[in-house]
Amino acid sequence: MTEKYLNNTCKEVLPDFLDKSKCQTIRRGWENCKQCDKGYLYHNEEHPKVNCPNCHGTFRIDKPAKFKVGDNVKIYWDKDNQTKHQHIWKELGVVEITEVFQIEIRKIGECQFRYVHSEHWWSQEGGRALELAESDGFKSAKDMFKYFDKQYDLSEPRKFWVYRWRWLE
Ligand SMILES: [Zn+2]
Repeated sequence: MTEKYLNNTCKEVLPDFLDKSKCQTIRRGWENCKQCDKGYLYHNEEHPKVNCPNCHGTFRIDKPAKFKVGDNVKIYWDKDNQTKHQHIWKELGVVEITEVFQIEIRKIGECQFRYVHSEHWWSQEGGRALELAESDGFKSAKDMFKYFDKQYDLSEPRKFWVYRWRWLE
């Protein structure tokens, strides 16, 4: 029985979900304040818990990984919409997690990423950025970075969890 699930709403990568060529997802590596949904402070990351500057609630800077290697995870499209729009959400299949690692993405003029604990930043022209983007279902590294910048604002560097998988069904 599969209990864990992964929900998706990124339309840019839906075609690669449907043909199951998508084998990776990149997820937020930090928590927002549970009370006000704000308060992310990257530069305090050495402290596991910080006070929200907005509402003074506390929250964790580093979000633990949701999945580990070997987990079976059910993939959904737009699951949170299921009560409102039953015709939209659907189950896309089940995957087995094969890799879990962290990256950071920043924008200094252009966007770049690096593996956490690595010195080197890969630009959007770099082969590693293209590999990361294509595994995720984006057509180019530029498209991938544009999506994440729009979602999360990368003007300060941000940490993400990367999960890779193989499809089971
Ligand atoms: Zn708050």
